Amino acid sequence: MEPDQPKLPGAATLDADGRVAMDAQCVSCGYNLRTLKVEALCPECAQPVAYSIQGYFLRFASPRWIKGLARGTALVLIALGGTVVVGPLLSLALSIPTMMNAAQSQGAPSTRLVHVTASAQFVYHAILTVLAIIGLLAPTRRDPAQAGRARELFGFEAKTPFEEGLRRTIAWYREYRAAIARRESRGAR
Ligand SMILES: [Zn+2]
Repeated sequence: MEPDQPKLPGAATLDADGRVAMDAQCVSCGYNLRTLKVEALCPECAQPVAYSIQGYFLRFASPRWIKGLARGTALVLIALGGTVVVGPLLSLALSIPTMMNAAQSQGAPSTRLVHVTASAQFVYHAILTVLAIIGLLAPTRRDPAQAGRARELFGFEAKTPFEEGLRRTIAWYREYRAAIARRESRGAR
């Protein structure tokens, strides 16, 4: 067993007690996790042991999901290049007709021309912003290859449906705020 090469996910790396039965480095700090329980935290950096030994790396992620990440990154780079490199050039190019118009009329350029120029720049940057937002959403999508890992590793399964959980969270927050308000009004008296 290569000491610095964690086994692939699903491979038996735990002994009967659920302890790491191989040399496996913590993905955050490199600490050797051998003999630690899979549900424990790294004693050096508190990163969950499970995170390191099950190989939560991009190379174990779904290839389609990785492609999505690559596309998202490309969109962000396009938006960045469009803003930093092309944006100033576009402004410069768009200002030429306005300046020529001003020189011809020997005074202020036509307001229509100024408006058209400003609108074109606004639309250009709005499109880039939308591209960047779409790109940034890519890493927020869930990797299908990692779905169900929590169940495999610690038997965790969500019992509360998302909407119910959201409702309870909001109810808790409202109650909490009301309690604070009550306390404050008592204090003010
Ligand atoms: Zn660590």
